[in-house]
Amino acid sequence: MRRIIVLATRNAGKTGEMRALLSGRPVEVRDLGDFGPVPEVEEDGETFDDNAYKKSSWTARVLGFPALADDSGLTVEALGGLPGVHSARYGGPGLTDMERCRLLLEAMRGKTDRRAAFVCVLSLAVPGGPALTWEARCEGEILEEPRGENGFGYDPVFYYPPLGKSFAELSREEKNQVSHRGRALSEFVVEFAKVEKWLDRHLPVAERFPCAE
Ligand code: IMP
Repeated sequence: MRRIIVLATRNAGKTGEMRALLSGRPVEVRDLGDFGPVPEVEEDGETFDDNAYKKSSWTARVLGFPALADDSGLTVEALGGLPGVHSARYGGPGLTDMERCRLLLEAMRGKTDRRAAFVCVLSLAVPGGPALTWEARCEGEILEEPRGENGFGYDPVFYYPPLGKSFAELSREEKNQVSHRGRALSEFVVEFAKVEKWLDRHLPVAERFPCAE
């Protein structure tokens, strides 16, 4: 029997990527766009785990299906881990990605410790509350100036030493091979057989009543 997993996203790109990764497995991947309006959950957790679990457990509870959510961001050593869980809102609402990059470069001006990491946490929750978590990191450095045109967010200011390029200088395929999100997703897919067993143990079994003769 094909089971349903709902992605806690309305981003058709993320859903398509997950469908491709899980093709051939007995699972039907849906997302929030397949349902009516679902109340939004506030991403006000103190860690990536908090936020990913908030999204996955809320979605699973509201829709009654196992739900997968991700939360990610950039942590910079010299800034005490900022922008971290505030990556999407760093500097306040209404800024463009490039304005946020510039703000980060400004905060990093004169700093010699340029170490940084992208972090991604994936959380798979069942409606009753329990969840599984995967976390992946990608270590790099903050550049002095933006480089490259691809990607989004902080990609132009994140230098990845093993390839000698910024994330914005990588193709989508190259980035997926090494990025925090790509690694977390591939761990989830590699462990999918175990995930199925865990879901079997944690999803309620529908009661069957014998038909009266
Ligand atoms: P989300 O959790 O995927 O919505 O990501 C939160 C924020 O972290 C984004 O708005 C970006 O600013 C930043 N971010 C996460 N992943 C990436 C990435 O792969 N490249 C650049 N920025 C990222």
